[in-house]
Amino acid sequence: MSDNVPKSGGPVAPELMADLAAASRILAAQGVVDGFGHVSMRHPKAPERYLMARSLAPALVTPADIIEYDLDSNACNANGRSSFLERFIHGEIYKARPDVMAVVHSHSPSVIPFGLVGVPMRAMFHNAAFLAFGVPTFDIREKFGATDLLVSNGPKGVALAQVMGKKDVALMRAHGSVACGPTLQTAVFRAVYTEVNARIQHWTIALAGSGTDATRIAAVDEDEAPLADVINRTAGMRAWDLWRTQVRAQVGW
Ligand SMILES: [Zn+2]
Repeated sequence: MSDNVPKSGGPVAPELMADLAAASRILAAQGVVDGFGHVSMRHPKAPERYLMARSLAPALVTPADIIEYDLDSNACNANGRSSFLERFIHGEIYKARPDVMAVVHSHSPSVIPFGLVGVPMRAMFHNAAFLAFGVPTFDIREKFGATDLLVSNGPKGVALAQVMGKKDVALMRAHGSVACGPTLQTAVFRAVYTEVNARIQHWTIALAGSGTDATRIAAVDEDEAPLADVINRTAGMRAWDLWRTQVRAQVGW
């Protein structure tokens, strides 16, 4: 272990740790993550720290697996536990975006094609209104040449956060995507509905005929999106309540 272990931002309420662990299981149950992928939240009292599970399949995460990190993604309390290689995605987004309180990284399969072919992802329905503000694509090759495609250090995380800018979702070419939010619940909601929206857009393009210009789909527009997104962040939490209840019924926390 490094001899300059960062100081903890202080204790976190057990129910928040349980919600973060539950978020991993929810994302697995919703088909957003599988053996890979992760969700983090910013420390509720220390904005220079964030919380994320140790390197573990998301469906297996428990509150005891959660590690605290500084924004350079150094662990405060690893105690021999191993960290996700791609934790820098989270640390660098928290550094660049003070408004972001939670981050999901996944390789959810329906989303990946949009990072490969240059067809813009658009908001196909109200639950995915947050996509109407634009979905940039991070191509790791542009700055780093041929790599294993993983965001496995600080500079790669910085480059991803730069491409993401002020958006809430970014695609990662030949890899996956990132979804962010002002709360853990919103970030999970966005990750789930980015995957659902991708499926609907594939169906829409199939229905309209291949070669359809994605910019001509009658998608949620930029005037409608802020209105719909307010509803998603309030009434849309019904989805979180459902998913959270299902996890609690399975594991008792
Ligand atoms: Zn990844």
